[in-house]
Amino acid sequence: VIRTFAYTNHTVMAEALEKWDVNLVKTVIPRIFSIIVEINNRYCQSLMERNGGDSAKTTRMSIIKDNQIHMATLCVAASHSVNGVSKLHSEIIKQSVFHDEYENTPEKFKNVTNGIAYRRWLYQSNPELTALKDTIGPKFIKDGSELEKFRQFQDDEEILTRLAEVKKANKEAFAKYVKNSSDIILNTDSIFDVQVKRLHEYKRQHLNVMNILTDYAYLLNNPDAPFTPKTYIFAAKAAPGYYLAKQIIKMIWAISEEIRKNPRISQKLSVVFLENYCVTLSEHLMPASDVSEQISLAGTEASGTGNMKLMLNGAITLGTLDGANIEIKEACGDDNIV
Ligand SMILES: *Cc1c(COP(=O)(O)O)cnc(C)c1O
Repeated sequence: VIRTFAYTNHTVMAEALEKWDVNLVKTVIPRIFSIIVEINNRYCQSLMERNGGDSAKTTRMSIIKDNQIHMATLCVAASHSVNGVSKLHSEIIKQSVFHDEYENTPEKFKNVTNGIAYRRWLYQSNPELTALKDTIGPKFIKDGSELEKFRQFQDDEEILTRLAEVKKANKEAFAKYVKNSSDIILNTDSIFDVQVKRLHEYKRQHLNVMNILTDYAYLLNNPDAPFTPKTYIFAAKAAPGYYLAKQIIKMIWAISEEIRKNPRISQKLSVVFLENYCVTLSEHLMPASDVSEQISLAGTEASGTGNMKLMLNGAITLGTLDGANIEIKEACGDDNIV
């Protein structure tokens, strides 16, 4: 079994590291239960041999503990390779989530940073930007590292103007899509500041909301002050039983309505919450985005992939040093991530 399986851990959220009640498993899948018991007996025996009979450590590392089956612990025990999905996350699982397991079998632990299909998220979803291939040639379609060549145009006025035209056209196209699907009018002369991802406390949509309220209070007090128009775009689904996440969606919606009621302010500041966040919506939105909000509490976002899609489509990241943001920063330089 160990030679067959490799385990990729995708998150450190406790809710995703499943624990199943022994009595439930015994009743519903008795044969599987007896196999897990046998795996655990052999695993604990090997731990005792390795750790010179340290029974406290063996108890701590046991797959079955406190009348529960720890699925992630089973995954590590039953795999020859264990990896996280960004450099930071792979360090975190070694130092905290699987610390004992790492000390026991350090050679199992690796990193495989997540990626996205850039043919989908650039070539297919952003044909306007892809049309700039006359600058670097078409090889990037098969080899993403070819995109590096675009760096030589970073101060080229003509290319920068074309880039701005592409972004503007994509914002117009997205505004048309939103008008058709939800009858909301977007100001395409405003900055599109985008936070799209599952709704979760660790991703901190509510932190973004607090900043929007700061903008709103500023404009109420300074209605004639110069202010670059901004449109804050949210999209997110919440897990069905996650009450607070749904309350945060309701809060974003309420603030959006409140600002809409004040026409003087809503020319400069608007908030939209788009329904039914899905890959199709995402493919339309990424090419039109200016600012990519990646503000998870540092240490909690294992990698993120929305961060990659938005960077690939020319949005500047506003983010915390978390997950793949750190590696994106190394790749794109400090001018493109704040
Ligand atoms: C990319 C994507 C995600 C993941 O977004 P993160 O910001 O990495 O959490 C979730 N949902 C959809 C529809 C996506 O396209």
